[in-house]
Amino acid sequence: MLSIGIDIGGTKVAAGVVDEAGTILRRLQRPTPSRSPAAVENAIVESVEELSQGLAIGAVGIGAAGWVDTEQALVRFSPHLAWRNEPLRDRLISRISVPVLVDNDANAAAWAEFRFGAGRGSRVMVCLTLGTGIGGALVINGRLFRGRYGMAGEFGHITVVPDGHWCPCGNRGCWEQYASGNSLVRDTKALLEEGSPRAQGLLDHVTDRDPAKLIGPDVTAAALDGDELAVELISDVGYWLGRGMADLAAALDPDLFVIGGGVSDAGELLLAPARSAFGRHLTGRGYRPVAEIQHARFGPNAGLIGAADLARHSITEPPGPARGFWPRRRTRRARRPIFQSFAEGFAPSADRPSPGR
Ligand SMILES: [Zn+2]
Repeated sequence: MLSIGIDIGGTKVAAGVVDEAGTILRRLQRPTPSRSPAAVENAIVESVEELSQGLAIGAVGIGAAGWVDTEQALVRFSPHLAWRNEPLRDRLISRISVPVLVDNDANAAAWAEFRFGAGRGSRVMVCLTLGTGIGGALVINGRLFRGRYGMAGEFGHITVVPDGHWCPCGNRGCWEQYASGNSLVRDTKALLEEGSPRAQGLLDHVTDRDPAKLIGPDVTAAALDGDELAVELISDVGYWLGRGMADLAAALDPDLFVIGGGVSDAGELLLAPARSAFGRHLTGRGYRPVAEIQHARFGPNAGLIGAADLARHSITEPPGPARGFWPRRRTRRARRPIFQSFAEGFAPSADRPSPGR
């Protein structure tokens, strides 16, 4: 069965037809039209129509930057788009003739890596996407962990520096203020604006040698060219990445971290310092297996591949009412009827425990 995956970011909409092996057969990309929900919805429908021509498509999956509820129907909040409690799935179902699934973009990217990429075979996988912020997702025993209300995995907003840099979330010292593309650009810009003689080589990689025009990939390009300052700046991001991962390991005990997003294009220049800081700050170090830290495989296509595969799975293995994990565990299915018949026999209907609680 073929399915379509659509990754909706703040600047671009990437969509593709994906087969059961995770291979992209057709792909298109267009700028995110505007912040208007109606315009984004039209862009999704047009992408589906264009990609479907001459193909039998079984499902459509949307990976959206934002908080998606546990029913995967409602986008509660999106930082880059104007979605506020947007019933995106129902709006699309009325315009698209196949089943539609909506999920968070970081969940979709993690799912692609788990199914077909760097995360295959892992038992407890943490996926971190380093872009403007840190996108986080967790796959445990083959299932995405979404939390009770669909908001699990917001690792980027764990406080790592009390009273540190302000974060758009309203708090200070969040992890993503130290280990993301935005933090790399902020720190590099500050150095360039100081006119440091050490920064002259890096400035050659910036448009018009104007610090105001610096973008993250300029620093990566300079670092890959061997510029010492750029290497140090990316290493600093790696250091904070490793420290934060050590805290996550204390809480979650994963066997694998998969690192994706634009900043990870620096490869080992980022990951080597991250591994070093991780090993240095890991609780119980010396007495426990150390989680692997791997570069993501699918780069900018992870979101659309994962969204397409999640949509396909939602049809072939429909999730039950307990949406925190899916597909449902067989053991749970066997136990439920006993519990329900007890409740139906003795509890007044208004007090009946609802399934999935
Ligand atoms: Zn924050």
